[in-house]
Amino acid sequence: MEIPDSIECIDCGQPARRLTPQPEEGWTPGDLIAYRCTGCNDRWDMVVASAEQTDAASARASEYRAAIAERHDSIPPPAPRSESIE
Ligand SMILES: [Zn+2]
Repeated sequence: MEIPDSIECIDCGQPARRLTPQPEEGWTPGDLIAYRCTGCNDRWDMVVASAEQTDAASARASEYRAAIAERHDSIPPPAPRSESIE
């Protein structure tokens, strides 16, 4: 699970630094991660997404890629000249 050291502040667009240190055993779903904005000093809390949510997101991405592939396949490739003569 990739947790960024800093995120972009939603309010002012300045980088918000992570306050919560990474646990030795790594992040687990539901962990709360606090960020402090270097611009407006606001605090942002992020929750580590569960594996289930991650799977759903990647499934949607696969569907999207499949749609792109389908669209591409519907365009017939140009026939080589040697075969068209035959
Ligand atoms: Zn800010």
